[in-house]
Amino acid sequence: HLRVRGLSKSYGTLEVLRGVDLEVRPGEVTVILGPSGSGKSTLLRLVNHLERPDHGFAALDGEVIGYARRRAGWGARRREVLRELTERDVLRQRTRIGFVFQNFHLFPHLTALENVVEAPVSAQGRPRAEVEAEARALLARVGLADKADARPRQLSGGQQQRVAIARALAVKPALLLFDEPTSALDPELVGEVLGVIRDLAHDGTTLVVVTHEIGFARDVADTVVFMDDGRVVEKGPAAQVLGSPAHPRTRAFLDKVR
Ligand code: ATP
Ligand code: MG
Repeated sequence: HLRVRGLSKSYGTLEVLRGVDLEVRPGEVTVILGPSGSGKSTLLRLVNHLERPDHGFAALDGEVIGYARRRAGWGARRREVLRELTERDVLRQRTRIGFVFQNFHLFPHLTALENVVEAPVSAQGRPRAEVEAEARALLARVGLADKADARPRQLSGGQQQRVAIARALAVKPALLLFDEPTSALDPELVGEVLGVIRDLAHDGTTLVVVTHEIGFARDVADTVVFMDDGRVVEKGPAAQVLGSPAHPRTRAFLDKVR
């Protein structure tokens, strides 16, 4: 269960997020839509604590990401404050969240299999043989059983992105974040990657997907969130937000991308 409360972030004088709240229940698929620069990627990076928020927090299953809760003060002034975690503890937390980027970010010198094996072994300290067997099963699940020994440059964009999805799943995350997973792909490769994400959704994986693929959102999303200018302008059931958006800015955006 992901709970985001009042997340704010500025770069200098530019307010990129202005108090974002978000709730994602286990097994739910949330699609985030919004124009370029509205803060979608920043939101995902803050959830995964790749960036530090100025205010607010994200919590996964009650555990605040990047911080520890601590009681401070006495009597009536006693309150809960957040203390920063060490980089090591943040890394441990981050393995509970999988992240798939627009440009794959595979390790170029490692094979597909080695890419998938990397995090469970080095970040989670799990035995390599066991992880390798799981990694082969994950590659098969994304349709790449025969590409285990290929390096990223020997794979198409769609295949690289499917390796990236297998890699994200390898740590058995409670939550999977996708940032425009198909926008760097040639049009004919988009379908194979969306198909894999669709399968994950049907298997009950908890997903947050930033995408401009409205058809995918309509088919797969439980909740659609529309962001503009660092705020959540509208959120609700996918059919409602996509079919009869309440806010004029949502309507204008959907008219443009459809
Ligand atoms: P897109 O659809 O183009 O990916 P987005 O909604 O993901 O857009 P963000 O990448 O979150 O938008 O960026 C929001 C704003 O924050 C933009 O104006 C961007 O230029 C700015 N921004 C993002 N990262 C930084 C940074 N590290 N330093 C300064 N400004 C930044
Ligand atoms: Mg972005």
